[in-house]
Amino acid sequence: MPGFERFGEQERKQVQDVLDNGVLMRYGFDGMRNGHWKAKELERELERTFKTQHAQLVSSGTAAVTVALASAGVGAGDEVIMPTFTFVASFEAIMMLGAVPVLVDIDDTLAIDPKAVEAAITPKTKAVMVVQMCGSMGRMNELEAICKANNLLLIEDACQAIGGTFNNKPLGSIGDLGCFSFDFVKTITSGEGGAVITNNDAYYSHSDQYSDHGHDHIGSDRGAETHPHLGYNFRISELHAAVGLAQIKRLPEFLEVQKNNFTVLREALAEIPEVTFRTVPEGGEESYAFLNFFLPDLESARKASKALKESGVDGCFHYYDNNWHYIREWSHLKNIKSLYPISAEVKNGLKYLETKTFEQSNHYIARNISCLIKLSWSQEDVNRRAQLMLDAIKASV
Ligand SMILES: *Cc1c(COP(=O)(O)O)cnc(C)c1O
Repeated sequence: MPGFERFGEQERKQVQDVLDNGVLMRYGFDGMRNGHWKAKELERELERTFKTQHAQLVSSGTAAVTVALASAGVGAGDEVIMPTFTFVASFEAIMMLGAVPVLVDIDDTLAIDPKAVEAAITPKTKAVMVVQMCGSMGRMNELEAICKANNLLLIEDACQAIGGTFNNKPLGSIGDLGCFSFDFVKTITSGEGGAVITNNDAYYSHSDQYSDHGHDHIGSDRGAETHPHLGYNFRISELHAAVGLAQIKRLPEFLEVQKNNFTVLREALAEIPEVTFRTVPEGGEESYAFLNFFLPDLESARKASKALKESGVDGCFHYYDNNWHYIREWSHLKNIKSLYPISAEVKNGLKYLETKTFEQSNHYIARNISCLIKLSWSQEDVNRRAQLMLDAIKASV
């Protein structure tokens, strides 16, 4: 997945171009720009790449999720259904808007379980957030049908699955709004950055306004613009957009390398009868950002995780024992610790987290190991890694 491995001449040229011209901000300063609009250019590239009508760049993936929710009107009094296995950003974005995160189980896709979503719907539910974890996707047909039948928004967090597709549609473009991150460990990076994509004109114009203090962005005089709504600053800078512009052009190359490296490792592990793989829904094509596999039980997964580390295989995660991606260790959120007061309604809405154990999610995450696929490996590196992984896992089952 890591974009941090591959940047060089093209990225440097783009950044230098911004510095030479001297306008580091994406809005305003029209008279000084001499045709330099890196953020706008990148937005058009994102629209092409993800086959969507609108793309709005923002300052991070977390900002993208926040802006997507705000643009569709999610706020106080609303419940947003989200998975137990995700990055904490999902939870944070919902909280930021004063809505209540309703966590539900994942299934064998490692994404949110449609049955669990259905069971969690209440009159307060406004949106369902599907997080396309570790390069693959949830059961999109089922999730879309549930959202349609219950008049709910489908928000797609595709931060970890840039370049994956479902029925030939790019991940991120299937929900009402899709979110991407271009932070330093994602498939393409801009240093920090993110994007919201949508085919909905109103959500797009809200995203455009909300991410820049409510500015309407009409005309060429920033000082004369009006502010139709309350907003915030989630802007990306021209410097970050410049790096992203170089990177998006290299996405097909990155995806090809990811797939090749993934395939070697997956074929090697498939020799071990005790190893099984996550389900990819029919019609789905992963981005191959991670190789995910299951061991028979928690004990063998812990053993394998340790053995992988000891044999020098880096970048493999046993999320059951990790405190950023799985509810089990989110103690600061289960027993909410906040620097500022949280409304009684949200506090009450979160009470279930103090006791709920999510056995179905544990069943998958306890046995799962997720290995990052890097771009910088030589063929020899990949083959050596495959052998080391085989040995470490065979010795653990
Ligand atoms: C990385 C990530 C985010 C947040 O992106 P940032 O750019 O780091 O804020 C959100 N969701 C998922 C699933 C992620 O992996």
